[in-house]
Amino acid sequence: MTVSSLSCDSLILEPIGQLVSPFTEKFGIPRQANLIESAYAEIELYTPYNNPDAALGLESFSHIWLIFGFHLNYQEKWRPMIRPPRMGGNKKIGVFASRSPFRPNKLGQSLVKLHRITKENNQAKLIISCPDLLNGTPIYDIKPYIHYADSADDSRCAYAQEQPTKKLNIEALALYEENLKTVAEEYPEHLNELIKDVIAYDPRPAYKQGRNDDKTYVVRVYDLDISFVVQNDTAVLQSLEKIK
Ligand code: SAH
Repeated sequence: MTVSSLSCDSLILEPIGQLVSPFTEKFGIPRQANLIESAYAEIELYTPYNNPDAALGLESFSHIWLIFGFHLNYQEKWRPMIRPPRMGGNKKIGVFASRSPFRPNKLGQSLVKLHRITKENNQAKLIISCPDLLNGTPIYDIKPYIHYADSADDSRCAYAQEQPTKKLNIEALALYEENLKTVAEEYPEHLNELIKDVIAYDPRPAYKQGRNDDKTYVVRVYDLDISFVVQNDTAVLQSLEKIK
């Protein structure tokens, strides 16, 4: 059976808010949620969803599910087979066996930590950490994480059985440290930790990992470009510059 795009089961979604995240480019975003604790972000709810009544009681939950759109890919075609980075980028599996952002409805779900809910000017805003999402990601729904229903002790997770470990050691040149000092007070206090965590998970393409690499990479966090090189298993942070 085929489903026409105008089937009566079609659903038009309107974002209830957007994520304000330190990840301003795709390169460097963690490949899953719940990995980088030092990544703080905000969920800016739109009117009328920012009515504090709509979030009443949510502050008693430590974690929440975000249902969001992979908005950079809305115009892209979905493909039935994809190559997950966790499998080294060279083995294909079905899109529904993956968490790929290139999927039929471009919907994603991430479990994040909820720190607090602010209610300035009678508008609720959620302060979270551990997202794997780009700045500006549209949020379509928020639900509390419920441990007994949302976790399974006897789970089998194919290629993603274990949490990825940080792959690279981090060292920094004096120039990076100097650059950091000049901007640090304008950013959240865990900026340095965040940059180091992002790079330690090795954002390079899977085929580059574990190989000699003479390229200089640039990862963007907030409006800062951080350049680094990788020698053996160590990333050396070279410099940090505010984008113009
Ligand atoms: N936890 C989610 C997302 C996993 S994929 C889920 O399982 O559904 C995470 C990757 O999606 C990130 O590493 C980044 O490369 C990409 N991504 C994040 N936000 C995006 C956005 N708004 N549009 C397109 N791709 C995005």
